[in-house]
Amino acid sequence: MAVDATQPYDDQNIFAKILRGEIPNKTVYEDDFALAFHDINPQAPLHILVIPKGAYVSWDDFSAKASDAEIAGFVRAVGHVAREQGLVEPGYRLLANTGTQSHQEVPHLHVHVFGGRPMGPMLAR
Ligand code: 5GP
Repeated sequence: MAVDATQPYDDQNIFAKILRGEIPNKTVYEDDFALAFHDINPQAPLHILVIPKGAYVSWDDFSAKASDAEIAGFVRAVGHVAREQGLVEPGYRLLANTGTQSHQEVPHLHVHVFGGRPMGPMLAR
């Protein structure tokens, strides 16, 4: 079911469980602010999810409430992952679904990093 981006944080969501180590993941990068791991259902040859370690439902919640250090750390982690995966020269796409109309499914902020093929049009028509 799509997430309401303004709902309170649910610490039983799947990414909270991944952060607590209760569910396995294929980690590609981790630091104090972020965890990056392969999407379980990849939609491109490379499909990585980057999530902040803090409890934020959505981009809206994070951008409004996270500290400057958390925001800087998270943004730098996304860039680091893309560089480390060799995606800068060929190019890559970032996506952060936020709320109902975007079909956000997991109520913990995540940025999708897609790469490994031409990404095509920005949105399905
Ligand atoms: P959203 O639609 O919320 O932007 O994207 C949620 C993403 O999380 C989907 O691409 C889905 O495949 C991924 N996902 C859902 N459950 C899991 C899981 O347990 N492990 C991993 N690695 N990815 C998951």
